[in-house]
Amino acid sequence: MSITALPPASGRAAPRRDPVAPTAQPAATTGATLLLNATYEPLCVVSSRRAIVLVLAAKAESVDVGDEEVHAERVTLAVPVVVRLTRYVRVPFPVQVPLSRRAVFTRDSSTCVYCGASATSIDHVVPRSRGGTHTWENVVAACRRCNHVKADRSLAEMGWALPHPPRAPSGTAWRLLGHRTVDPRWREWLGLTESVSA
Ligand SMILES: [Zn+2]
Repeated sequence: MSITALPPASGRAAPRRDPVAPTAQPAATTGATLLLNATYEPLCVVSSRRAIVLVLAAKAESVDVGDEEVHAERVTLAVPVVVRLTRYVRVPFPVQVPLSRRAVFTRDSSTCVYCGASATSIDHVVPRSRGGTHTWENVVAACRRCNHVKADRSLAEMGWALPHPPRAPSGTAWRLLGHRTVDPRWREWLGLTESVSA
């Protein structure tokens, strides 16, 4: 089984016919499930419905389940929160996490890096007007006030300092974080600290 056999997490692709017989289709559930490789490495997020289909087809096993249950053809199944593939799949991943507002907020815990207030905007540490790049290393989450006060000035001019240099996030968790809220029950599998929220 290759990763192409799995549905896209974004759901942007056209609907595809599932290899599992239609009679095995569970009742509708709207949840999302974290899909782990056989090695427990996080792969992607799939709909809970898709996860249930994988479990019913013995292509995955439930690792963690929620309170909700679904009734398939002949079985009642707790809706899985985390599932693990029964067979290992090799997955080529992009080298770097795409830079997005949501991903920056996630990396910086939705907190202004300058004052610790709730972040509402993105700030270029070296202002773009001064040649600052739109890259992970030069973009931080900031509150509106700090962003406004700092304007087109450098940190040195402001007398401000960053708690740590901004970096591109790495690690398997980040493939999921740029565009999705993280279920707290996924955290241990994603290696997330408590301070990271989506
Ligand atoms: Zn601030």
